[in-house]
Amino acid sequence: MNRRRRIYEGKAKILYEGPEPGTLVQHFKDDATAFNNKKHDKIEGKGVLNNRISEYLFVKLGEIGVPTHFIKRLNMREQLIREVEIIPLEVVVRNVAAGSLATRIGVDEGTPLPRSIVEFYYKSDKLGDPMVTEEHITAFGWANPQELDDIMSLALRINDFLSGLFLGVGIRLVDFKCEFGRLWENEQMRIVLADEISPDCCRLWDVETQNKLDKDRFRRDMGGLVEAYQEVARRLGLHVDNPMRVKTGPVLVRSK
Ligand code: C5P
Repeated sequence: MNRRRRIYEGKAKILYEGPEPGTLVQHFKDDATAFNNKKHDKIEGKGVLNNRISEYLFVKLGEIGVPTHFIKRLNMREQLIREVEIIPLEVVVRNVAAGSLATRIGVDEGTPLPRSIVEFYYKSDKLGDPMVTEEHITAFGWANPQELDDIMSLALRINDFLSGLFLGVGIRLVDFKCEFGRLWENEQMRIVLADEISPDCCRLWDVETQNKLDKDRFRRDMGGLVEAYQEVARRLGLHVDNPMRVKTGPVLVRSK
């Protein structure tokens, strides 16, 4: 089916060699995993929705000057991206206590935080993505202090912008995870937003009902994941026709 060169396969995405040097194709799978792969399932339609939602958010962030790896969406499951050197950190920004923070510090889920908090986790499946501090990051050379400053300020800008964008459609951005990479252009390096931002890596709560519109529906066996992601897409004004009908192979985007 796919005869392109596979560069990397992750839990929810595959990266293929792109059509030009310095580009890659990012393919969104329907696989859902949690608890470091201990829980695994296929949820038909998830990849299509994440591709569309992430495209929308990356384009909007690009419009306010956040540099990203995104070039364009190619089809229902794939997007063309710039090849970057991924910094091995998961950057989590939190506005409301939930998930591992609520557990770690013993506060009720839903407690608003006095200010947004940025956390770093070292990307390592083997180690279960341990939380690390800026000291670890610079000492082990995963990023230098200047890069870390850039990452921190980009993460907070992304949070401000996305919090407003989601609030405008009745959704609270409780927290999210993002990743960054190094992009070289004419001997110059800059830090850009990479990977994806979708309900797979955000906590999104309906402002009125507190209903969860994110991957916690899968983690906590609540059901209705595709319906929740569809609701996020619908509120953002995105039309995703029958995401469940789109099989795993590439399907061309209809011309506008
Ligand atoms: O589990 P925890 O509360 O630390 O997650 C914080 C945020 O980061 C959540 O929005 C979650 O979806 C996201 N996350 C992620 N990938 C991970 C860990 C967390 O997208 N490996």
